[in-house]
Amino acid sequence: MIYYGGVPYYLARHAIYCKKCKDTISSTSGYKQCTCGAVGIDIGRMLGALADMETRQMYCAYVNGKTIWLPQHVVEEVWFAFTASTA
Ligand SMILES: [Zn+2]
Repeated sequence: MIYYGGVPYYLARHAIYCKKCKDTISSTSGYKQCTCGAVGIDIGRMLGALADMETRQMYCAYVNGKTIWLPQHVVEEVWFAFTASTA
């Protein structure tokens, strides 16, 4: 979950992109691997080298009955902070 502008955004799409084989994989029910096998995805987890993957995650919030999508640049900022902290 990401707080942005005081609003909680929930993970709506858990997905990553493999820089090696240019595959985008998303996990809705279980483990999946990209075509070349460099990166994989599981519910709530990413497997493989962070240098080989890019985020394709999408977050949304529900405000007054409407769905609001978190801007992609915010998702990427969070991703970069995450990869920097684990590098
Ligand atoms: Zn791959």
